[in-house]
Amino acid sequence: MTERKAIALIAHDQKKDDLADFARSHRKAMSAYPIVATGTTGGRILEACPDLDVTRLKSGPLGGDQQIGALIATGEVALVLFFVDPLTAMPHDVDVKALMRLAIVYDVPMALNRATAERLLSTLD
Ligand code: PGA
Repeated sequence: MTERKAIALIAHDQKKDDLADFARSHRKAMSAYPIVATGTTGGRILEACPDLDVTRLKSGPLGGDQQIGALIATGEVALVLFFVDPLTAMPHDVDVKALMRLAIVYDVPMALNRATAERLLSTLD
């Protein structure tokens, strides 16, 4: 990973189209950062924006959310953009909660929907 802190991207299944569209709209701003993403989300981002520097971790339910949490704990994440589906029960809900908890512990900005993601991305230099 480069010296610049990463943007972490995660989207639940019903929100993956939204996040891919968001990445397409903001590819220029995002191209200045390394990106870490959960497995399936990362694949969708790369399909939408093949030129972005995306490191794909495990799929969320298989530990990807926890891997992003670990990167937050080691100070490697500048921003978390997590497009959450609030209408579907998730088997890995506890992992999602743990990730949010670490973002709070380490005071890392975290967007849970597109409107917040738009605003947070605009604050990066
Ligand atoms: P995925 O994981 O990108 O591998 O689908 C996201 C999640 O549901 O946490």
